Amino acid sequence: MRFLQEIKFCVAKSENCEDNIIQAHSISKKFLRKIAKNGRVISIAPSSGDFEEIGIRQASTFRGFCGYHDKELFKCFEDHNFDFTNPEHIEKLSLRTLSKEYLLKMNCINSQAEKFDTHHNPSFIDVGSCFAYYRLEYYKNLLLTSIWQKKYNVLDSVSIIFNDSLHCLASGAFFLENDINHEPVNLLQEKCSLKHLDPIILNLIPLNNDTIVTISFLKNNKTANTLLVKELPLMNKVQQKELISKLIFLYTENFYLSTEIYKNKLKPVKTKLVKHFHNYFNLNKKFDVFDEDSELKNLNFFDS
Ligand SMILES: [Zn+2]
Repeated sequence: MRFLQEIKFCVAKSENCEDNIIQAHSISKKFLRKIAKNGRVISIAPSSGDFEEIGIRQASTFRGFCGYHDKELFKCFEDHNFDFTNPEHIEKLSLRTLSKEYLLKMNCINSQAEKFDTHHNPSFIDVGSCFAYYRLEYYKNLLLTSIWQKKYNVLDSVSIIFNDSLHCLASGAFFLENDINHEPVNLLQEKCSLKHLDPIILNLIPLNNDTIVTISFLKNNKTANTLLVKELPLMNKVQQKELISKLIFLYTENFYLSTEIYKNKLKPVKTKLVKHFHNYFNLNKKFDVFDEDSELKNLNFFDS
């Protein structure tokens, strides 16, 4: 996404910071290489909502870390295999995911302020984005404290292993709008109570020939506990793949597909998907990821 004046700074700010704020990958380049063809993958262009090819040097990048912290914070899974049973790996990966979303929200709010002069025209302030931004900042600080103190005790996580070859990578932090019973949660509207906004952090990671889906959330996040700890494991593999695919498509801009799955499965239904993407930016339109009748039924980023 392009902004009038992009804000960039190191989220992990400390005395060790280097001056250069790099184009940090929120999804490891070594993972992107696994689904790339000639160094390119398929993603959704935020400006048009259409699918486009993008090089893996640019894919998933954001200006949220200095060179030192990008290297130091994530070397446990950049220089070694990711271990989804290791809370240090989970919290550091979650910090990286959440930081990208935090910068994105900050840039959105700043861009609106410049465009509409929201100081004098407060009705143009996107309240949902502001609430989400403050909440992400709170979580970012919790995670950083846990990481600096080497406690790794802030998050719970659920990981699912699919023994299929990898066709999709994703990394996102988002606020679910409703639960599996269609009851509203995390309403990003004026009436919502800020302290009830709890993000869910989702990552797809390759490990050998398998695909690992890791979902993390704050220990007291009741929605995530009910949905992910109790209900997701009860679903069969196809239901799990479809639910995760819908979560990725509806809530995560930051996902990348292999050319193979795009050509075989998504290109034929592209018009429908792009229309759905545009509707997402219409605040009157609510998405229910658990809606059985949705046009996104049978969306599956796992099987080509
Ligand atoms: Zn730094």
